Amino acid sequence: FLGVVGDELLMPTYLVGGMVRDLLLNIPNYDIDVVVEGDARIFSHTVKRYFDVKIVEHKSFKTSSIFFSDGVRIDVATARTEFYEEPAVLPNVETSTIKKDLYRRDFSINAMAIKLNHEEYGLLLDFFGCRKDLAKGIIRILHNLSFIEDPTRILRAIRFEQRFGFKIEERTLQLLKKAVNDGYLERVTGQRLRDELEKILAEPEPQNAVKRMTKLDILKHLFPGVRHSKELQKHFDRLFTRWETIEKLTNESRKITVMVMLVLENTPEESTDWIISRYGFPKRLPEVLKTSLRILKKLQEMEDWRFSNLYRLMERPSAEIFHFIDAHFDEKKSNILLKYLKALESNKPKVNGGILIQKYGLKEGPEIKMILKELYCARLEGLPESEEEAFVRKLL
Ligand code: ATP
Repeated sequence: FLGVVGDELLMPTYLVGGMVRDLLLNIPNYDIDVVVEGDARIFSHTVKRYFDVKIVEHKSFKTSSIFFSDGVRIDVATARTEFYEEPAVLPNVETSTIKKDLYRRDFSINAMAIKLNHEEYGLLLDFFGCRKDLAKGIIRILHNLSFIEDPTRILRAIRFEQRFGFKIEERTLQLLKKAVNDGYLERVTGQRLRDELEKILAEPEPQNAVKRMTKLDILKHLFPGVRHSKELQKHFDRLFTRWETIEKLTNESRKITVMVMLVLENTPEESTDWIISRYGFPKRLPEVLKTSLRILKKLQEMEDWRFSNLYRLMERPSAEIFHFIDAHFDEKKSNILLKYLKALESNKPKVNGGILIQKYGLKEGPEIKMILKELYCARLEGLPESEEEAFVRKLL
């Protein structure tokens, strides 16, 4: 139907970007990006005449999003030619606009389009040898200034390379390294870099991408002063491989926050504030890190890891602190930590502060806290739920 709307408006209409790439790779992708040679907003409002959709316009970028009631979203953009004009005069007007739009994209694998108008429906537009690169598994920029025009593409190159098991093409890699070493990452806003970094972390196994970033010195340019070490890489690896398992037992937390805690642990203290404000991380992070490091040190010194001892040390740590600590231990100790989390869940005392106040006449304050802590420890040591009240009475 997008082609039909395009025909009605006499607008050449194309499917572009990641969806075309994934169609050719036979990978499902529900991010529908459409480019029209015409006004995207008029296009979207015409779609609205036929379907019950919501339109959100982004005026400054000449784009609009169409939201269908079943959750499908289509982003429509006006073919953009304002960047990177080609010096050569192009042979025909109809393809020149979409060609320029595709030329300003990040990599050849993302720079194909499929025509949606009735005439030529399904025609694949491939101006830059994109399909060949896709078949060969190559990430290639479309012109030499690409990384300089938009250094976030440095992170995007790594994301796609690792996601598809592709290789960054030789010349592209040289230009990428040069852009990194010439300090172009430093010229981008922290927010844009953070967005791309979060996309890398959202991939199923981000550890290889992070390893690659370390090898290419990207991490140092994102986080000045960070000491690359085998140890840090090991901690990243542990963090990412164990993420899902731990996430099931804790509150939600952000991968990037814990990753940055690991980075800050390996960065001189004077860089901390700069990193936090550049990327907009929570201001409380240095405090969280300090607490985590204090617990970590004690755990490393502690010989008897029985659950009651763990509880005395850290009670129930926040998800961030737990992930951070866990990343520092080997499989055996990590498993104890995981069992500890499960035990906290299954041994939660039934007696709580409210009961101590109402039934035993205690006043709110440190005494209640102390009793509840002892009770939790006892439960973790095997005290049955039925004996909780007897245990509390003994403490009073
Ligand atoms: P994913 O499958 O992760 O969603 P995607 O290729 O769809 O990947 P998006 O970030 O959604 O990536 O971007 C959509 C399209 O917009 C890309 O395929 C690419 O053509 C273009 N694009 C996105 N970011 C850039 C950029 N920084 N520079 C140039 N083109 C970009």
